[in-house]
Amino acid sequence: MPIVWQCPLGVSAYLALGQQIEIGEKACPECGQRLGGWGGYWRWLRRPGTERLWIRRSRCSRCRRSHALLPDFLLERRLDEVEVIGRAVALSISGGLGMRPLAERLGVPMTTARDWRRRFQVNALMMAAALVAVAVHLDPAPVLLSAAEHEIVALEALGAVWHRARTRFGKRVPELWSFWSLISDEHALGTNRSPPYPPRSGAVCITRIP
Ligand SMILES: [Zn+2]
Repeated sequence: MPIVWQCPLGVSAYLALGQQIEIGEKACPECGQRLGGWGGYWRWLRRPGTERLWIRRSRCSRCRRSHALLPDFLLERRLDEVEVIGRAVALSISGGLGMRPLAERLGVPMTTARDWRRRFQVNALMMAAALVAVAVHLDPAPVLLSAAEHEIVALEALGAVWHRARTRFGKRVPELWSFWSLISDEHALGTNRSPPYPPRSGAVCITRIP
């Protein structure tokens, strides 16, 4: 199970560090025990010129599980930056832009772009419900959602959570799409094999923000 961590570095700085990447102390999501280092692995990142980047692993000495420590500019099992994915999905939903022209513009395979949108669609309702719960935890004012369309509601709910988090914590809260990755763990854009987007606890999400 990956742990998404808030990475203060830009992607280029992260890449430049190679295996020297340092991550602060993390707690085991299962039992709260401090995690120890446990090597890492290389994975690919698609950017202009595909690159490899180092993902640290850590292991809990109590429950003996290991966790990949995923920087928040990535999503589990996705080759592209979350910023690229999130913007493309949002553009296709609210801008009505087809995934084909978007894929061409981004230089990603059509099937990849279509899959982003499909997964977002599958998750949209659960995601919206979970995000509204976090938004209300941050600020009890009701969350105003304008549409009946699940995907639009999910985008609006994400915007509301992010806005409330920024109001409360300021610039410590990362940019919108990294924030999405951070509070969603591996579920932001799960694959066919992933469980559905789980309910989010506002309190737990807030502890993610340093
Ligand atoms: Zn543990």
